[in-house]
Amino acid sequence: MLSIAIHGGAGAVPSTLTAERERQYRDGLAAALDLGYATLAKGGSSLDAVTAAVRTLEDNPLFNAGRGAALTRDGAAELDAAIMEGRQQRAGAVAAVRHVRNPIELARRVMEKSRHVLLVGAGAEEFALEEGLALVPNVYFRTEERRNQLEAERSGRSVSDLFPSSQGTVGAVALDAAGDLAAATSTGGMTNKRQGRVGDSPIIGAGTYAKNGVCAVSATGHGEYFIRSVAAHHICAAVEYRGLALREAVHELLHGRLRELGGSGGIIAIDRSGRIVTEFSTEGMFRGARDSSGLRQIDIH
Ligand code: ASP
Repeated sequence: MLSIAIHGGAGAVPSTLTAERERQYRDGLAAALDLGYATLAKGGSSLDAVTAAVRTLEDNPLFNAGRGAALTRDGAAELDAAIMEGRQQRAGAVAAVRHVRNPIELARRVMEKSRHVLLVGAGAEEFALEEGLALVPNVYFRTEERRNQLEAERSGRSVSDLFPSSQGTVGAVALDAAGDLAAATSTGGMTNKRQGRVGDSPIIGAGTYAKNGVCAVSATGHGEYFIRSVAAHHICAAVEYRGLALREAVHELLHGRLRELGGSGGIIAIDRSGRIVTEFSTEGMFRGARDSSGLRQIDIH
């Protein structure tokens, strides 16, 4: 079984989401989903598939990752990303980078080319330079729409009707022909966050986790709650140790543990046999799923 699922953030769906705009989001999701699936279909690994899907979403300014990232309160883009593979459970992550065009590429280099799991800020960017990754001025990431959202947030106007502003992280999970699982997540974090704030996405076990024979998970939502509930690992542990079906484990996390703490968001996950679960406790989640049984779905509500 080959399968892949992606997300482009969870939150409140605005009444102002026009048909044209919705089509743009759907096209963006479809491009990432199909590229990820094509990678699997030509024998690529789940790691390659999630990297390709997330990179595509990072390059799309509609989503809160890479270009089009949510802005910090000083008006800069500060990016977090993580990747994990399920066979040996190797992982790589970066946080608070300001110049790496594709943070997911850097996270993967951290996993494959360094002795570390998580690099932050200047040290992460020094490593990106050594690895020859594309670096860009911070202004590359900052779109007018994100500047407007920051203004709205600063002046106390709710941004929930500008979905996906503070939320809109991207992620992917996949199972390849060899039975290997992988997960990847990338984000600009929350609008108006403090400089140096790190969310759940690059924290292994919180926003991103994969273990062969169990599941792969990528989360989106209010990161502080996902860190405190160790969300992605919590789900895999429920499957592995308590024998829950993945669907039950995801539901329990979102509507139990996370809600008890006061958090909301969405999860995409794949179990060891390629079954895809996408669920959210927000009004909507940009998401897509595709597998070798013929499933191909893009949804928002
Ligand atoms: N989880 C991300 C963070 O808190 C934001 C999001 O998913 O929308 O950084």
